[in-house]
Amino acid sequence: MSAHTDPENTMQNARDKLREIFGFDDFRGRQIDVLARILEGQSALAIMPTGAGKSLTYQLPAAILDGTCVVISPLIALMHDQLRSARANGIRAATLTSADSDWRETMDAYRAGNLDLLYVAPERASQPQFRSFLTESRIALFAIDEAHCVSEWGHDFRPDYRQLQSLMDDFPDVPRLGLTATADARTRKDVLGQLGIPKEGLVLAGFDRPNIRYGVRYRDNPVRQITDLMAETPGPGIVYAPTRKKVEDLAAKLAAATGRRVAPYHAGLPSEERAANQAEFVASEDMVIVATIAFGMGIDKPDVRFVAHAGIPKSIEAYYQETGRAGRDGDPARAVMLWGAGDFAQARQRLTELPEDRRNDERARLDILASLVETPDCRRAILLRHFGESPAAVCGNCDNCLEPPEVTDATETARKLLSAVYRTGQSFGFGHIQKVLTGSHDDRVAQRGHDALSVFGIVHGEEARLLQPLARALQARGALVTTEHGGLALAGDAKEILTGEVPVGIVIPPKRPRSGRSGARGSTPNPVGDPLFEALRELRRTLAKDAQVPPYVIFNDATLRDMTEKRPATLAAFGEISGVGSKKLTAFGEAFLEVIRQH
Ligand code: ADP
Ligand code: ZN
Repeated sequence: MSAHTDPENTMQNARDKLREIFGFDDFRGRQIDVLARILEGQSALAIMPTGAGKSLTYQLPAAILDGTCVVISPLIALMHDQLRSARANGIRAATLTSADSDWRETMDAYRAGNLDLLYVAPERASQPQFRSFLTESRIALFAIDEAHCVSEWGHDFRPDYRQLQSLMDDFPDVPRLGLTATADARTRKDVLGQLGIPKEGLVLAGFDRPNIRYGVRYRDNPVRQITDLMAETPGPGIVYAPTRKKVEDLAAKLAAATGRRVAPYHAGLPSEERAANQAEFVASEDMVIVATIAFGMGIDKPDVRFVAHAGIPKSIEAYYQETGRAGRDGDPARAVMLWGAGDFAQARQRLTELPEDRRNDERARLDILASLVETPDCRRAILLRHFGESPAAVCGNCDNCLEPPEVTDATETARKLLSAVYRTGQSFGFGHIQKVLTGSHDDRVAQRGHDALSVFGIVHGEEARLLQPLARALQARGALVTTEHGGLALAGDAKEILTGEVPVGIVIPPKRPRSGRSGARGSTPNPVGDPLFEALRELRRTLAKDAQVPPYVIFNDATLRDMTEKRPATLAAFGEISGVGSKKLTAFGEAFLEVIRQH
C-alpha cells in the first residue's frame, strides 16, 4: 500500500482514529515510531517499558488496516484482559484458547473478514491446522507479545515461540510486530533474528518509569511502615514477602491495622482461593494483596498504586519487574523496599552454596542490590545505569532526591568495629561486639576476658550511635557476614577497610519519613473526597459490575479526573474528554452526564 499513500496522510488518519476509538489526543513516547512502520507495511520490534502503551501499537493498526491482526500472547489471562479492553473500545476482538467456547463464531468471523484482532497462544499458532485456517482470510499484521520469549537468552524462553518464524514465513507480505518490556542487547539482537525483523525496525524506548517514586528504608517495623504507606497511597497495592508464613502473617496484621481488605497469595493456598483473591484484586479499587514473588505474572492491572517489598528482592532485574507492576496507567505510584541486614546475610550465605563458576556473577548482582540500598544518591540513576542507560544524576522523584540523607564518614568507627569482630574470634553477634566496644561491664564480656582486649571501651558518646547502622551497612556491602552460628565474621573488603585503604561512608536516613501525617492525598492526583469525583467512581463501579469487568475497563482514573474538572454538559463535550472514544461515548455518555448534572 505504501507506494501510493502519503505517510503524512497515513499518520493524520491514525491520529483521527486514535481520537475516535480510544479518545486520546496524541500518541505517547515512541508509539508513533512503531505505528509509522506498521501502517506502512514494515515490521518492527518495540521495546518499551511497562505502561508505555504497547498494546495500542497493534490495536490501532488492527482497527485501521484491512484484515485481521493476529496476536500471539503467552497467557490466557492476559489475552482476556486485552480482549475486554479492546471490545470496550468497539474493536472487534476474539480469543481462540482452550478456555473459550465460542471458537466456532470466532473462526466464522475471521473467515468473513469481520475480525480486527485475534489472540492465540504460541502453542496453537504453531499447529499446521491453524496455519491453514489463517489462509482462509486476510491477515493484516502478526503481533508477538512478550517477544523476548523467542530467545534462549531471555529470562523465559518458550520453545513454541521458535515455531512462529516458520508460520510467519508462509505469509511473507504480512508485517510483524514484536513487543516486550525486557530485553538486553544480546536478547534484542536474537529476537530480531528469530522473528525476521530488520535491524532498522528496532524501536527502543527508555526504561524509565518516571511516575514511580522509588524509596528504600531499613525495616524497623514492617507493619507500621506498610500501614503508613497504605494511608499515603489510597488505592490497590502489592506487598511482596519472602515466605508463605510471612505472607500470611503480614496480610493478617495489615488487615487488622488498617481495616482495609488485605488478602494473601502464595503457592500453598488452594488454587480456588488464590484465583479468587487475584480476581478480587484485579476488580478492586483499594485492595492490597500480600504475595510471594509468584504473584503478578499475567495480571495487567493498570491502577496498582504501590508495590512494597518486605524483604530484599532476588535481584535488580526482579526488583524492576516487580515494581514495574505499579502505575501502568501513568498516574503517580510508589515502590518501597524495606530491607534488613539479615536479608543480605542470608543471600550471601546462599552464595557459598552455589557452584564456583556462578558465584562471582551472583555476588556482583547482590552487590548492585546492596548499592541501591546503601546509596545516598539517586536510586533511579542506579537502576537505569544498570540497564545500560545514562540517566541524569538527580531524578527528583525518589526518596534520596526528595530528602537527601546525611552522609557520615564512618571509616574510623568501621575499623574499630571490624577489629572488635576480629579480636573476639569472629563468633559473636552484634550485641556482644557493641558491649565490648562501648566498654559495658557485662558477665559474658568478662567471662571471655573481652574486657582486657585493646578494643574494649574505645567507642564513646555520639560514635556509639553509629554502630548499629554501620553494622547493617557493612553487612549489606558484604564486609561482614553472619556465620552458621549467628556470629559476625569478616569478609569481602573488610581487610581493605581495616588497613584504611577503603573509606566507609554511611547514610543516615531522615529521622522519620514523612508519613501518613502529610495527608491521604500525598501521592494521588485524584480529588479524593470531591463529591462529583466520588459519584463518578460510584457509577463506574456499578457499570463495571453490570458488565462484569474491572472498573478501569469502563474508564480509568485520569478520565474521571478530566470529567470532574471539565464538567461536560453535552454529549459532544463529553466526547472531548481524554479516554472517551465513540463506543464508550454511546455506551456510557448519558449515564455520566446525568451524574455530572446532579453535582
Ligand atoms: P504496556 O502494554 O506497554 O504495559 P498498555 O498498553 O497496557 O501498556 O498501556 C498502558 C496505559 O496507557 C493504558 O491505560 C492505555 O490506555 C494508556 N495509553 C496508551 N496509549 C496512550 C496514549 N497515546 N494516550 C493516553 N493514554 C494511553
Ligand atoms: Zn532520584
